[in-house]
Amino acid sequence: MPRIMRTLVSRGFLYFFVLLAVIAIAAFDYDSSRLFLWFLLPYYAIGLLLQFVMPKHQQPLESNELATDLVSNAFMFLLSGVQNLMVTLLFGLASSSLLIHFGLLAPSFGLSNLPMWAQVICGLLIFDFMFYTTHRLAHTIPFLWKLHSVHHSAHRVTLMNAYRVHPLDVVVRRFIPVFVLLQSGISQEGFVAVAVIGSVLATITHLNVDLRHGALNYLIGTNEVHRWHHSTRYREAKNFGGIMIWDHLFGTFYLPKDRDMPDRIGLSHEGDYPVHHYWQQLLYPFRRRRPEPAPPPHATPAAGSPEPVVSK
Ligand SMILES: [Zn+2]
Ligand SMILES: [Zn+2]
Repeated sequence: MPRIMRTLVSRGFLYFFVLLAVIAIAAFDYDSSRLFLWFLLPYYAIGLLLQFVMPKHQQPLESNELATDLVSNAFMFLLSGVQNLMVTLLFGLASSSLLIHFGLLAPSFGLSNLPMWAQVICGLLIFDFMFYTTHRLAHTIPFLWKLHSVHHSAHRVTLMNAYRVHPLDVVVRRFIPVFVLLQSGISQEGFVAVAVIGSVLATITHLNVDLRHGALNYLIGTNEVHRWHHSTRYREAKNFGGIMIWDHLFGTFYLPKDRDMPDRIGLSHEGDYPVHHYWQQLLYPFRRRRPEPAPPPHATPAAGSPEPVVSK
């Protein structure tokens, strides 16, 4: 790829696709099916292609790694249809807010009264606050960490393992934020716009592409910011949000100036963790474990033990 083209992609990728998302949302008139088929899927494919053309980091595939990523992607793709159906059925987009339904929020205070741009900004902030909260809890509560450790198991950050997640982790870190967002009384169109722009930002987090976002790294959880979240070192594994405002507010933002990648990516303590076996990972949180003898002082914690609460 010519140098000028590389620079343009590297600096302009995020701006270009967020702008394209806005155009697509208007062009497809908030039709989520067409937006998924004609915008989000091609965008995902372009991201995959760019990982080969201008990768940030290259290392040989590990045994069973590709199979694990393919199986998890296929499984989560199949489940996404069920998820969408559940969101629609359970919360019913036409009368989305239970707060409004039960008279706890006046309809005139619902987000749907705002212009679309304001609905989208407020919607993204509400969703991301809940995403930040549930994500930090997933790193703090032992059982939730066992579910979330699936996502942290790989030794690299790539689009291929962005959907390496436990379905129950999705319930905690996606359904709860979506449920809370729907309580705001956002319109159906606003919800679709938030979902599409949120998907564009979420996909960028795992791109193994040499992108340089500059000052945007302090506002958005880009791939430059998110790979630190996957560091094996607790003090580096921060940046919990998709929008960095909550990390700045709660002291969990981490972006060193002297290095652009962690030395090692993955779980801090692998122990007997099935790093590249997706089905075993799904069962891991429910595995009956023999009681272990008390560890000696300074011993390495067992696999699946939660990362400690991130120091501020
Ligand atoms: Zn995490
Ligand atoms: Zn991740």
